[in-house]
Amino acid sequence: MNVILLGPPGSGKGTQAKRIEQSRSICHLATGDMLRASTASGTEIGMRVKGIMDSGQLVPDGIMIDMIAARITQPDCGTGFVLDGFPRTVPQAEALDEMLAKRGLGLDHVIVIEVDEAALIDRLAGRFSCAGCGASYHERYNRPRVEGVCDVCHGRQLVHRPDDRPEAVRARFEVYRRQTEPILPYFRARGVLRSVDGMADIDGVTRQIEAILG
Ligand code: AMP
Repeated sequence: MNVILLGPPGSGKGTQAKRIEQSRSICHLATGDMLRASTASGTEIGMRVKGIMDSGQLVPDGIMIDMIAARITQPDCGTGFVLDGFPRTVPQAEALDEMLAKRGLGLDHVIVIEVDEAALIDRLAGRFSCAGCGASYHERYNRPRVEGVCDVCHGRQLVHRPDDRPEAVRARFEVYRRQTEPILPYFRARGVLRSVDGMADIDGVTRQIEAILG
């Protein structure tokens, strides 16, 4: 099963994609996490993209398309994938179609998580994650069971993302509206796009998504 999750920053794509990965045994490809891993390990691409990411702008399409093309063919994606954070532009969506078609694959579901912008600003401001395994938390809605300790890997380095600062958040919303929303009509025209109400609680959003996946 091949799935794309779309939605503005803070809409819960990462949280829901991790759940789909578990329930469907498919691989979770989160381009933001891949880029953050590159910057943390100091690769050449990581150094090139760090400033772009911190300011909330998009990394060039060519880098992203190559990154996904290399990943999608790995054995762990043999049963399918859930894309979280890709595609973010029309050229990325077109390149994805092309790379899937070449391999005789297609998209089963494209799901957009719809949320209210004011609520998103609140979510992003309180969000933090584990530097070790990427598990995400929120100061009010989703705290770790033990204060300061990751539930998943028991690491103690819980960090806020630099691009969750208010000015970077504003830039990321603007980028979403201007560059990512135009891909919605692209998928709608192909009849694969469905939307879910992202204002429900985390389990409520999961139930809506599972109903679509069938
Ligand atoms: P995310 O973790 O999905 O919010 O992504 C964090 C940042 O990584 C974004 O604000 C972009 O700077 C960059 N990024 C992630 N995915 C993409 C993509 N598909 N295209 C361009 N930039 C991306």
